[in-house]
Amino acid sequence: MATFSELCIGKRLCAAISDMGWTEPTPIQVRSVPEGMAGRDLFGQAQTGTGKTGAYAMIALGRTRAGSRTPTTVVMTPTRELADQVSKEMRALSSHTKHRVVAVYGGASISDQVQRLEEGCDVVVGTPGRILDLHGRGVLVFDAVRELVIDEADRMLDMGFMEDMETIISLTPESRQTLLYSATLSEEVRGIAGRSMRDPVEVSVSRDDVVSDLVRQYYVEVKRNGKMDVLRDIMANGDPKIVIFCSTKKMVDDLYEGFSAEGMRVGALHGDLPQFRRDKTIRAFRDDRMNVLIATDVAARGLDIDNIECVVNYDAPLDPETYTHRIGRAGRAGRTGVAVTFVTPMEDRRIPSYEAYMGREVERVTRRQVQNLEISNPELKAITKERRRERRRIESSKPKVRAVIPKEKPAPPTDVTVLSLDIGKSSEIDRTTLSSYVMSCSGIGEGDIGRIGMGSDSSFVEVSSDRAADVIRAINSTKLRGRRVRADYAPEKRKCRDKLKDRA
Ligand code: AMP
Repeated sequence: MATFSELCIGKRLCAAISDMGWTEPTPIQVRSVPEGMAGRDLFGQAQTGTGKTGAYAMIALGRTRAGSRTPTTVVMTPTRELADQVSKEMRALSSHTKHRVVAVYGGASISDQVQRLEEGCDVVVGTPGRILDLHGRGVLVFDAVRELVIDEADRMLDMGFMEDMETIISLTPESRQTLLYSATLSEEVRGIAGRSMRDPVEVSVSRDDVVSDLVRQYYVEVKRNGKMDVLRDIMANGDPKIVIFCSTKKMVDDLYEGFSAEGMRVGALHGDLPQFRRDKTIRAFRDDRMNVLIATDVAARGLDIDNIECVVNYDAPLDPETYTHRIGRAGRAGRTGVAVTFVTPMEDRRIPSYEAYMGREVERVTRRQVQNLEISNPELKAITKERRRERRRIESSKPKVRAVIPKEKPAPPTDVTVLSLDIGKSSEIDRTTLSSYVMSCSGIGEGDIGRIGMGSDSSFVEVSSDRAADVIRAINSTKLRGRRVRADYAPEKRKCRDKLKDRA
């Protein structure tokens, strides 16, 4: 069995790892850290849950000295959630080396991020749009970059960040080391790898490594209208901390509304919900203030919570990659979990495809057996209980505010201008992709985007009026998934009052 000291990452990193309670490196760490420490570029095929963040963080922190004025490491991530998680893990790993880590992403105050960058830092973790915005303002300088990490490259392409990624790659010094990770290897991902790396070592974490033995996998045959009853049986079986995956946003909404109407505290995650609500839901779930999360794949991607007892595939996913990704939400950080997949008679052929992909069996259970499965995990329950107790202790030690401070009225809606874009649902984009694209190409934050309406070939996007001209210019000079998009001011809807005036 390999040890961390054999990875040649230095005593201080090893001390931080020991503080974090990691006892041995994961397979991707064993296979990629020594090569990375020797300076080789790395092309890693790895999903979340394999320890890939730890792998590239060890390499970047192990190969750079702390105390630089401008960053020596830049990590690109597709979403702010991932940027947050990565920066937290890198900060923990830096507790002895003292590297300073700053996270930068849209939707959060840019002035705070500017200030932190100006104070000097070693590592910047962020989304491509915000990284470029800060670079454009002259605050984020790439001259000292030695390590460039591209995390979840496939997802970045899905979100329309191709051009931003390529721009960032081209702006960093050619002498850099590049570490690129992707769960899937499409032609496009290979293209980026080919253009950004020199003779990279390819490390693929075998699927056996990804789906650990720690997740016990079952499937149950159900009729389409019988899924709810089986789900209730599972939930009644020890009240597990559970993530329920659905294939559509509508199904997530339906389940959420059904449970909420019964007075249950449940959370819903999908791409049409505003970011602040998604953040709030993830926080409540992570903090054990709610036990049930209902989600689509996209919204739950990268969800890294270590005390999930059960994953239910309410809708069986089509492809095995999605299956392994979903069930990997359980069995995190060395703890056991259970995954139960519902298959309708039409869907039972999907199970063999999962099994072939993972090289592992998914055990068939009957409806009755589901009721007796050991889903609840006493070890996890104890952790949850301890965390709740700790939080209550912290809450009760906070000073109580006596005076009743009148709540400020919510700010009136800011002045918005409606833009029309000649792209819509027929180009297979959704609201999330469109808003990410608008933000990344123009550098505006989430607070500058209002409602989005989508037709099949056109869309309307509300943006803060003072940024409208910039946004139009930015959209008209970039591409979304390789396609040019035309943006303009939307023709104004005439107000009733004006029509009456005309008539008078
Ligand atoms: P990732 O694949 O980077 O999303 O990591 C999955 C989870 O495993 C995170 O919670 C990490 O903190 C944790 N982790 C990474 N490496 C190790 C390790 N060697 N031992 C235990 N936990 C780890």
